[in-house]
Amino acid sequence: MPGPEVTEAICLSVQKFSETSKIAVLYTRAWGRLSVIAKGAFRPKSQFWGHLEPLSIAECVIYKKPREQLQLLSSCRALVPWLPLTNSLPCSGYAFAVAEFLYRHTREEGDEAMFHLATSTLTTMAQLPDTLLERQFWGFLLGALAHLGFRPQFDQCDTCRRKPRDDQTVIFDAAAGRIVCRTCRQERPEAMRAHVISPMALSELRARQAAPILDPGEPAIDPEALTQLARAIEDFARYHLGGAWIKSLDFARRMESL
Ligand SMILES: [Zn+2]
Repeated sequence: MPGPEVTEAICLSVQKFSETSKIAVLYTRAWGRLSVIAKGAFRPKSQFWGHLEPLSIAECVIYKKPREQLQLLSSCRALVPWLPLTNSLPCSGYAFAVAEFLYRHTREEGDEAMFHLATSTLTTMAQLPDTLLERQFWGFLLGALAHLGFRPQFDQCDTCRRKPRDDQTVIFDAAAGRIVCRTCRQERPEAMRAHVISPMALSELRARQAAPILDPGEPAIDPEALTQLARAIEDFARYHLGGAWIKSLDFARRMESL
């Protein structure tokens, strides 16, 4: 039997396994995504109560065996107790969208930068007003996509190589992951997954690509710019990642519009 190892983890999902045990999927700092069993987690005096819950960020002790599908979680202690991610429905929706992304698109492979991005995003979301949550989610997604090797280019027109002026609307091609100016777009008749990007949306895309985590002091952006960048990033992510889209994101948006 291997010895226990300690790692930090985000709890992505938890389900009942037997009368007394839980199975959880964790995104760990050391090994990436991992399924674990917590034996006795439903016993009345279990030390897992309140610690092994969806969205908790915890220090975990795991007996990690190579090539095992299910690892043994021997203890779990929440590092940020009562992270208020479930204070509002939009907040829990966007936080679950982060967890669902990690669940669907990471694997068993440690990625320090992705772990840091995910924990910073959740900690920040817990403090943001509901009006900034969606903006923070797209920042997370741009950062996470870059860690997976998909980094769109927003600096210059892909055809003429000119940098767009500050007042210039451009077109983003979600398949190529590049922008083109409108003049070049007219000269390029081939099919594109084209999205109109206003100067404000472009500036926000660049800002989030440079720094995915929102600074509370950043200037507000108008709803139309947020809609444009959301469509562009979503289409880029869907095209390059494939698979099913993030269900929790639709839930979060519905809760926000109530
Ligand atoms: Zn151009």
